[in-house]
Amino acid sequence: SVELPIVAAHRPVSVSFEFFPPKTDKMLESLWDAVRRLEPLSPAFVSVTYGAGGGTRDRTHEIVSRIAHETSLKPAAHLTCVGHSRGEVDDIARRYWDEGIRHIVALRGDMPDGQPYQPHPQGYDYAVDMVAGLKRIADFEISVAAYPEAHPDAPSPDFDIENLKRKIDAGATRAISQYFFDPAVFLRFRDRCAAAGISVPIAPGILPVTNFAQVQRFSAACGTTVPDWLADLFEGLDDDPETRHLVAATVAAQQCRILSAAGVDLFHFYTLNRADLVYAICRVLGVRPQTA
Ligand code: FAD
Repeated sequence: SVELPIVAAHRPVSVSFEFFPPKTDKMLESLWDAVRRLEPLSPAFVSVTYGAGGGTRDRTHEIVSRIAHETSLKPAAHLTCVGHSRGEVDDIARRYWDEGIRHIVALRGDMPDGQPYQPHPQGYDYAVDMVAGLKRIADFEISVAAYPEAHPDAPSPDFDIENLKRKIDAGATRAISQYFFDPAVFLRFRDRCAAAGISVPIAPGILPVTNFAQVQRFSAACGTTVPDWLADLFEGLDDDPETRHLVAATVAAQQCRILSAAGVDLFHFYTLNRADLVYAICRVLGVRPQTA
């Protein structure tokens, strides 16, 4: 068990923020508001996702470029194997490198419509193959995905940890975890990775839940357990966004403080392109604006 003082011990923590390329101009405005609001927190990097099946290729690129050129932030571009030949993935990566963008989050991706995964005939089969391919192109900084509750396609949790080790051995220097709700799940996973010889930083992926019904659906698909206590906290709040927000911030801040008290010193936030909750949770963790 972990002692939880009322005020978090302000050890230096490193944070990163994930955004997604929005579909409409209005949503694009919210994205930039969130980027600007979070920028003074000096995250280690901010990442931009790559839509399922490569559907956001150009929009991901555009946002990553704008972050690189118009802000003080270091962007990381997500890239997936799905639907691309190796040549296409390599071209996208070379273009990033030529523009000075050095950090790629290398992923397998998922098939559209939830179909079983099929590698592209000329593509990289799995994330590990993309990591090796990217390293052949240039000395990218590469982050990869990790699954505290095992990836749904993994034949076993041990196989999945071996897969993470292979991605690290191929050249990745950081893992970012799928979101989870029980801090003990992440801490056990961290211990199992250490025992398997994985020594790179593993950032817990923190998802502040504002839309519980949506998270429940998504969690079923990606293998994240939704504890009964979480369902209970959100029960009856469908028409009460203000309380949902306060509950979401409390839950995520508590989760982060337990992880921090257990020695975790880096956190990756799934922002869903909103700054307010993440900004507050960072404050609880002792992360303050550098320019205030
Ligand atoms: P991999 O590491 O390749 O593993 C996929 C599965 O295959 C695992 O079960 C693994 O154990 C298994 N496996 C590996 N090698 C073999 C083999 N040789 N034979 C059989 N099985 C094998 N998706 C997007 O579309 N866009 C994004 O921007 C995006 N960002 C993400 C960011 C993070 C931090 C995370 C955690 C996930 C993200 N995803 C994204 C989702 C991700 O693409 C899916 O979870 C996908 O199903 C797996 O990708 P991976 O890179 O973990 O795959």
